[in-house]
Amino acid sequence: MKTTFLRTVAAIALLGSAMAHAQNYPTRTITMIVPFAAGGPTDTVARLVAQSMGNTLKQQIIIENVGGAGGTIGAARVAKATPDGYTLFLHHIGQSTAPGLYRKLSYNAIDSFEPVGLITDVPMTLVAKKDFPAKDLKELLAYVKANKTKVTYANAGLGSASHLCGMLLQTAIGVDLTTVPYKGTGPAMNDLLGGQVDIMCDQTTNTTSQIKGGKIKVYGVTTKTRLASMPDVPTMNEAGVPGFEVAVWHGMYAPKGTPKPVIDTLSNALRTALKDPVVKQRFADLGTEPVADARARPEALKAHLKSEIDRWGPIITKAGQYAD
Ligand code: ASP
Repeated sequence: MKTTFLRTVAAIALLGSAMAHAQNYPTRTITMIVPFAAGGPTDTVARLVAQSMGNTLKQQIIIENVGGAGGTIGAARVAKATPDGYTLFLHHIGQSTAPGLYRKLSYNAIDSFEPVGLITDVPMTLVAKKDFPAKDLKELLAYVKANKTKVTYANAGLGSASHLCGMLLQTAIGVDLTTVPYKGTGPAMNDLLGGQVDIMCDQTTNTTSQIKGGKIKVYGVTTKTRLASMPDVPTMNEAGVPGFEVAVWHGMYAPKGTPKPVIDTLSNALRTALKDPVVKQRFADLGTEPVADARARPEALKAHLKSEIDRWGPIITKAGQYAD
């Protein structure tokens, strides 16, 4: 009886301190983990959003890049972090493909995280080094069919968006390329610019300025219709690969057990960031836009993640690509 009473008192005290903590939140710098290298597209989205959310929350949000294994190393780190609102996670579509691709994950893509909200659906572009010997997609396809594994394809590891896009391309044209994995497509872009690797499929948030500066070649965008930010570039469909469509959705999470009032505070700050004119303009410059307000919420991300895991599972099983 006495023990039960003491336990109840302790539980109330704990709840009280968690609530006080949640009400004052945040009182110090927050770390946002990005599961890819600095300077890449996921990092770019994270830095823009973190800056704006930090202004709203009146605390700095610093980015920590934990790249490797298609984003699963960073995800594992977040899953083990203290759920106090001071560790956040920004990841993309890879959160939904990892459970199908990796036989041994130390975390559960749904149960180890608290969703905060969706952020943006970023189009992709098929690009190549500047002196790649093909002037359009038809010539590129002919070249890779003739040269097969001699052609090198950069990606950010199994389960990354660049890997998925490459998998779709190789399946569509029935050719295997030689894959060169990086910790993120930021460093991969450096090698594309330097001519050490031939082609890549990556988010517009990484490729737009290099395309506009004439530093790399572009062959197509992966959206249904052309992008306002690069109207001269055909869709992959128009350029010769029918039905080739992919967009890279991005979401924000916290470790499982982060108090609900903290998640609500973060979700509100995220929704404010996505309406911030600076963020909207930068997104537009980079060929993307924020999601509608209703999608920048925990329930929307939770439902989307689940449906994407269900969608990708069978595709991955069919493709038969796994990692341990
Ligand atoms: N664009 C990368 C990917 O292929 C990730 C990154 O470096 O942001 O998933």
